[in-house]
Amino acid sequence: MKSIPYSRQEISDADIAAVADVLRSPFLTQGPAIERFEAEFAALHKSKHAVAVCNATAALHLACLALGVGRGDLVWTSPISFVASANCALYCGADVDFVDIDPVTRNMSVDALAERLAVAERDGRLPKVVVPVDFSGLPCDLEEIRSLADRYGFKIISDSSHAVGATYRGEPIGRYADISVFSFHPVKIVTTGEGGLCLTDDAALADRIKLLRSHGITRNAAQMQCGGEGSWYYEQIDLGFNYRITDIQAALGSSQLTSLDEKFRRRDEIARRYDDKLARLPLKLPVRLNDRQSAHHLYIVEVAHGVSRSDVFAALRADGILVNVHYIPIHLQPYYRARGFAPGDFPASEAYYAGAITIPLFPSLDPSEQDYVVERLTSAIGS
Ligand SMILES: *Cc1c(COP(=O)(O)O)cnc(C)c1O
Repeated sequence: MKSIPYSRQEISDADIAAVADVLRSPFLTQGPAIERFEAEFAALHKSKHAVAVCNATAALHLACLALGVGRGDLVWTSPISFVASANCALYCGADVDFVDIDPVTRNMSVDALAERLAVAERDGRLPKVVVPVDFSGLPCDLEEIRSLADRYGFKIISDSSHAVGATYRGEPIGRYADISVFSFHPVKIVTTGEGGLCLTDDAALADRIKLLRSHGITRNAAQMQCGGEGSWYYEQIDLGFNYRITDIQAALGSSQLTSLDEKFRRRDEIARRYDDKLARLPLKLPVRLNDRQSAHHLYIVEVAHGVSRSDVFAALRADGILVNVHYIPIHLQPYYRARGFAPGDFPASEAYYAGAITIPLFPSLDPSEQDYVVERLTSAIGS
């Protein structure tokens, strides 16, 4: 029996040709394909600046550094995310805390955020940055988070790794956050093999991310302290990294973007079909909201209280359906427990986690495979 993964990259002949073209060109890295990909991505999201890097983890790290996160600072994120959403703050020497999710959207709860901010203001311990996560591709309550940011003076890094192409109030996501981060790992909406990107409307932030992406080295005379020795001359003016993406990857990204609308349409179609076929089962399904359109990176069902998630999971795996779980709450990871977090800290996240199963959703999932998933899931939950 052929197994069905929960997600799979879609690589076209045009994608392969685009990569081959770069391999025959003079530049494998630091060439023109990167700037082209960045310009295309920024235009697609109606943002001013895009800086592509080697993965989204690096993008989150650089976003934190560009916003000045350092020792003694506090960064808040959602427990229901990949660990990178929190680790980025620790890389900078800052402390991390979490804000519980809204059980309906599974994104950071704006009410919980507002409550925590009021307490934090009294205690003189406000976060410098909040990292909301557009979980599964559904945009967060961006406008509400923006107004809290303006009131309390924190910056927003939106972890939009799941949400390439999602829209919020009729517009591409990105205009509410100071920096939005995207991932191009193969399981995500568009892929570059490994890759990530920072999107921002702030030219100074984009410049700083570019500088740190490549060792903190500049060739721009306006940024130099000495300068003028000759055209070979560069200066290291900060401590950066090699977080560059290659032209090979960027060309794949550009090619992948050309079919984004089609991928988006297929994902939405498959999600609607699940919504329809699973509606009468004792499962909690992803919510649809009128003011935003999910990119449907993941389709997650929650089994009812009292049903064993691990039994349902094992039954589906045995049927060749490679379901997954997104995510183990970050605060329950041993590394974070050692930093003082414990079970019970974020009850809505933990309740979500107890029932969550990610079922297959990717553009080439065909109706017969989808029907098989529905049939086996129905049987596994005993309905
Ligand atoms: C995939 C992912 C990341 C990390 O992306 P990489 O490109 O693999 O570094 C960060 N945050 C979220 C929410 C993700 O899903």
